[in-house]
Amino acid sequence: MNGTAGTDTDVIVVGAGPTGLLLAGDLASAGLSVTVVERRPHGISNLTRAFGVHARTLELLDARDLADELVKTGTRLTRLRLFRRLTLDLSRLRSRFPFLLITPQYEVERLLERRAVAAGVDFRYGAELRALHQDADTVTAEVGAADGTGTTLRARYLVGADGHRSAVRRALGLPFPGRSVIRSIVLADVRLAEAPDELIAAAGSGDTFAFVAPFGDGWYRVMGWDRHRQVDDGEPVDLDEVREIARRTLGSDLGMHDARWLSRFHSEERQVPAYRTGRVFLAGDAAHVHSPAGGQGLNTGLQDAANLSWKLTSVLRGEASDPEDLLDSYHRERHPVGATVLRSSGTLVRLAMARGPLQRTVRALGAGFINAVRPAAARAMGQITGIGIAYGAGHGAHRLMGRRAPDLELTEGRLYELLRRGEFVLVAPQGAAPQGPHTPVPGRVLRASWANRDRQDTLLVRPDGYIAWATD
Ligand SMILES: Cc1cc2nc3c(=O)[nH]c(=O)nc-3n(C[C@H](O)[C@H](O)[C@H](O)COP(=O)(O)OP(=O)(O)OC[C@H]3O[C@@H](n4cnc5c(N)ncnc54)[C@H](O)[C@@H]3O)c2cc1C
Repeated sequence: MNGTAGTDTDVIVVGAGPTGLLLAGDLASAGLSVTVVERRPHGISNLTRAFGVHARTLELLDARDLADELVKTGTRLTRLRLFRRLTLDLSRLRSRFPFLLITPQYEVERLLERRAVAAGVDFRYGAELRALHQDADTVTAEVGAADGTGTTLRARYLVGADGHRSAVRRALGLPFPGRSVIRSIVLADVRLAEAPDELIAAAGSGDTFAFVAPFGDGWYRVMGWDRHRQVDDGEPVDLDEVREIARRTLGSDLGMHDARWLSRFHSEERQVPAYRTGRVFLAGDAAHVHSPAGGQGLNTGLQDAANLSWKLTSVLRGEASDPEDLLDSYHRERHPVGATVLRSSGTLVRLAMARGPLQRTVRALGAGFINAVRPAAARAMGQITGIGIAYGAGHGAHRLMGRRAPDLELTEGRLYELLRRGEFVLVAPQGAAPQGPHTPVPGRVLRASWANRDRQDTLLVRPDGYIAWATD
C-alpha cells in the first residue's frame, strides 16, 4: 500500500485524457501517490479532437515547464476572424503567449503523460471504472479489465476525469442537465490549394457555416454545417459534402484535397450541478460539455485540473486550516467558469446559425459592435483566451484577489518559473522583511522579491497562478 490511512493510493484519477494527465502529474510531482485508471489500452491515443491551446492554458503549462516545448509543435495564430466583422487581435494580449497555438490534442497529452510518468504516477491502462463507494475516510473503486478480471482500489480521494459519458458521474447518481445544440457538424482534416494563414469562422445566410484553421504543417482542420443536411452521427461524410459547404459559405472550397480524417458529430451543452460529492470530484468533460466554438473544452478541463490539484495537495499534506472549505472552493470557483463557457460557446454557435434578416442584423451589429467598443472586445478576448478569468475578484484593497497573476519579473527569475515548484509564491519589495497575509496559507510558501526596486507592494500568488492576497 502506498497511500495513507490504509489505502492503496492517495488519489485515484479516472481517465487519462488531458484533464486527468495534468492532475495526476501535479499530484505526483507534489509527492503524493496517484493511480490513473484508463479504459484505453496503452499506446492507443484519443483521436485528434481539440487543436487550439489558448494563452491562459499555455501559462499554466509554462508553470509546469511544458509550454515552450508545446509551442514548438504547432503554429501561432494572432488573429481570429469570426463572422466577417469580428476580429480578435490576440497580439495585444499581455501574456508571454499572445496567440492561439494550433497543435493537435495528442501533443498536449504526450507531454502531460511524459511528465506524469516521470513523477511516478501508477498507470493502469485497459482498466475501466465500474463502480465506486465512499465513506467518511476513503473512496473504493471497482475496476474491471477487458478479460473480465477485476480489482478493488482504495484511496483518500477520487477524481472523475473520464469524459462526457463519465462513469464516475453516473456512479454518483448526478444528473447532467442540458441539451443538444447542433447536429450533423462535418469535420475534415485536409490539404488546401488556396491556404488562408489565419483562423476563419464564417457563416452563410444562416443555412451554413464553415470554419478553417491551419495546423501549421500543411494540414488544415475544416468544420462545416448545412441546415438542409441534418443526419445522424453515423452517416458517412465524403469530402464533396465539406467542399460544397465551404463554397456556399466562403465562396470557394479552397482546393481541399487528400482528407486524412472525415467525421460527423453533434454537440451538446451540459453541466453537472456539483463538481464535488464528498471525496469525489469531477473535472473536464465529465463536468461540462459544450459546442466546439471558441475551442474551450480542452482548455477548460486543464484549468479545472490546475485549480483542483493544489487544493488536494494542501489537504493531503495536512497543511489546510479548513480542508473542507478549501475543497469546496473547487466547485465555487470552477462551476461558474464552466457555466460561462457554456453560454459563450453557445452564443457563438447560435450567431453562426442565425437565420432571417433580424437575426442576421443582430449578428452583424454584434460583431461590429464588439470590434468598435474596446471594453467589449477586451472582455470577449479575455474570456476566450482564459486570460480574463478571475475567481470572485474583490474590490478596493482586495481588488487584486482572485485575479490572474501576470508573469512578473522577480530577482529569482520569472514568476511562472518559480511556480514550477508547485508552491505559493510571496513577492515582496527587495530587502524588506516580507509582510505576510492576514489569512493562513494552505501550503508551503516560496519567498521572492520584485526585480523592480521601486515596487513596494506585496503579493501572494497561489500555486495555480491566481492572486491569493495583496497589500494595497
Ligand atoms: C471535433 C472536436 C473538436 C474539438 N475542438 C476543441 C478545441 O479546438 N479546443 C478545445 O479546447 N477543445 C476542443 N474539443 C473538446 C476536447 O477534445 C475535450 O474537451 C477534451 O478532450 C476533454 O478532455 P478530458 O480529459 O476532460 O476528457 P477526454 O479527453 O474525453 O478523456 C477522458 C478519458 O477517460 C477515459 N474513460 C472514459 N470512461 C472511463 C472509465 N469508465 N474508466 C476508465 N477510463 C475511462 C477515456 O478513454 C478517455 O481517455 C473538441 C472536441 C471535438 C469532439
